[in-house]
Amino acid sequence: MNEVFQRYLAALGKTEFMPRAALDEYQRGLVRQLVTHARANSPFYAERLNCLVAPDGSIDLRRWNEVPILTRSEVTQSVERMSAANLDQSRLGPVSEHKTSGSGGEAIMFGVNALAKLAYNAALTRLARWHGADPAKPLAQLRIYRMDPVPHYPEGQVSRGWSQAAPDAAVYGLDMRATVDQQIEWLSRHKTPYLMTLPSNAMALGYAMADAAAPFTFEKIFSISETILPGARELVAEKLGGKLIGIYSTEETGYVATECPLTPHYHVCSEMTLVEIVGENGGPVSAGEAGRVLVTSLYNYATPFIRYDIGDVAIADERPCSCGRTLPVLSQVLGRTRNAFVFRDGKRAWPRVWNATAMRSFVPCKEFQVVQVDYERIEFRYVPDGERSIDAEGLRAYAKQQLHPSVETVPVRVDSLSRGPGGKLDPFVSNLS
Ligand SMILES: [Zn+2]
Repeated sequence: MNEVFQRYLAALGKTEFMPRAALDEYQRGLVRQLVTHARANSPFYAERLNCLVAPDGSIDLRRWNEVPILTRSEVTQSVERMSAANLDQSRLGPVSEHKTSGSGGEAIMFGVNALAKLAYNAALTRLARWHGADPAKPLAQLRIYRMDPVPHYPEGQVSRGWSQAAPDAAVYGLDMRATVDQQIEWLSRHKTPYLMTLPSNAMALGYAMADAAAPFTFEKIFSISETILPGARELVAEKLGGKLIGIYSTEETGYVATECPLTPHYHVCSEMTLVEIVGENGGPVSAGEAGRVLVTSLYNYATPFIRYDIGDVAIADERPCSCGRTLPVLSQVLGRTRNAFVFRDGKRAWPRVWNATAMRSFVPCKEFQVVQVDYERIEFRYVPDGERSIDAEGLRAYAKQQLHPSVETVPVRVDSLSRGPGGKLDPFVSNLS
């Protein structure tokens, strides 16, 4: 496998600078192969992709927009029928089982063939190179582990090779359900130059070390799972010493996009993932407009995910990136679709990262969550940052102006915030949408 990996990694170093038309054609070739495979081998897709079949039997992608969008609840119900019966494992590699939380928190099991994992790992390795990280150096990983054995505190687990470019590098893993103090103790035993964790967890570590001299610092911190909120990069750089580098991925579809080395936005991993941004009606949005993120994973033939609505809202940017890479740009990932705030007059609003920045200026806090509890009532739940005073009236007036004139916003002080499946902290939650 390693020779395949090296060749693929070298190829990615070229495709990232390919003229866009050539990159699109390269991607369409992969989509056609996946469609052919899914129609032939997955009962779920046998009829679903019929609109792509030309009269001569070949695959024609011009009617791609008519392929039904795959929803999370469909996956929860039909994941077994989505899986392919026949796989050429000599070409695609062995299949491993993965588990994630489906809609409503129900677990779904799906297969991933090793070639897809190789592609995702190449995307991680390319990202590391973009940002000057060396795959041969050790990495510590703090996340939620769903498959047994879960690496609990105090031992955690040791494995090898976070990048296939350096299969011997040490990788230390600990389940993130350990307390922050336990995490700090565990990290101070391993002292790795790199950390991979959720950005809210990195911030929690940073705050916990606020007054003490840090027992360790990191060169780079890879951020997974959640949107990076304003203030996170600065805090992490100051308290943990390293640059926060964003990875946009999902458990089901692997790598979606990775952070540009020059600008804090994301480049789509077009060589392995097709990303579409669509409006409410399922059609493409105009440039600069927010829309739902649909993902097609191009190398997972074991359980194909085609036009999968991963439940996020993002904004694409059509302008070329100053770094010279031609990979499409996502300027912002705004978070979960279900977090739209709705009002009695039918208006909807997605609170954005800029709302968060402003809100923090009224209520200094370590962590916060803005919850719409009723049409007219919003709670700004926060974990206080020391005893600094808050400006409740300023917060109230700001939310009226930015979100909706009907809302009353109240600060609610809490000891901790509840997290969703996977340990994610949703910054904006509506109990109405
Ligand atoms: Zn760039």
